[in-house]
Amino acid sequence: MKLRLIEKSDLDLFVQNLINDYQVDGVKRKEGSFLYGSIKSPEELCLDFDCTVIPPKKYFLPPEETLFQFTSSPALQVTPVMESNPFILFGVHPYDIKAINQMDRIFARGVPDPHYLKRREAALIIGVDPTKVAPRSFWADMGAATVSEGFDLMLTDIGESFIVEIGSNKGRSLLEQHAKPRPATRNEARERVGIRSRISHICKKRGFAFPKREIPTLLEHSWKKFFWEEQASKCLSCGTCNLVCPTCYCFDVQDNIDLDLVHGERVRRWDGCLLHDFAKVATGENFRETRASRYRHRFYRKGLYLFRLLDDMACVGCGRCASACLPDIADPVNLFNKLREDEK
Ligand code: SF4
Ligand code: SF4
Repeated sequence: MKLRLIEKSDLDLFVQNLINDYQVDGVKRKEGSFLYGSIKSPEELCLDFDCTVIPPKKYFLPPEETLFQFTSSPALQVTPVMESNPFILFGVHPYDIKAINQMDRIFARGVPDPHYLKRREAALIIGVDPTKVAPRSFWADMGAATVSEGFDLMLTDIGESFIVEIGSNKGRSLLEQHAKPRPATRNEARERVGIRSRISHICKKRGFAFPKREIPTLLEHSWKKFFWEEQASKCLSCGTCNLVCPTCYCFDVQDNIDLDLVHGERVRRWDGCLLHDFAKVATGENFRETRASRYRHRFYRKGLYLFRLLDDMACVGCGRCASACLPDIADPVNLFNKLREDEK
């Protein structure tokens, strides 16, 4: 693996050069929180954040998008709407890259989703290793402290400079054309290993009290437990835990028809399995009418159903759900540890 190094004093120039040539989005500080947004000058970009409120999934699966427009007269005509302008996403933590890698697999399987895949293809991802750990994060326990793929460049802050790992040929060209890197020395590469290990150690203070590979079996034996009723009794069915989760990707599809009854469009919007109407069908029946059944479904989805597909949990340990849930019942660490205790 070839590592490069950029001096911190040269980083602003790198970012400015990228802004001159590309649409650049990255993490910005706003009233004590961190949010992804458009970066218009290097000073706006924040790389020492702990966790953003909303994950970067919105760049590939927007909260709302038009899939196609149609007209029914004189003959049915359907025009796909594909938005895929090239852009750079600067400052994505490894756990969020792991989530994007999972989404890539999901949206490419079966009938591939051209809307997601086109946006993904148009993106250059510049990752950054975390320097801080959010209070509810447990990404180190989820094997998401580092990633080996899914980025074009990966930056690690080693003090006066950033080590840069090249993840793709596009990343290599981007770096060579827009920055002044030099090869990293062995000592600098070793520093990166030490820094990564220290931050992982801090993050490991939160995690499962048992091996996470046991979670699918634990869930297979827990379907009928009163436990779910108890846990879900405080649930507000607000769906926030779904919306802030980097691995939740469910959406609803709706046709909007103009008053002329000839033109219209099909749109899709984020949906969430905790919302009351998520499993409601056209006849009015709701397959998950109760809060407990919806709440249980979310954890089965993360720890069993998607586990079977991905051979890994559909949770990367960002802790966003735990931080955002008002009654504090969405945290996978607390939930699975309690479920395991209940099993004994
Ligand atoms: S678990 Fe928490 S965040 Fe999720 S729907 Fe219930 S109250 Fe809202
Ligand atoms: S379930 Fe919670 S901790 Fe896991 S990836 Fe989703 S938001 Fe992050």
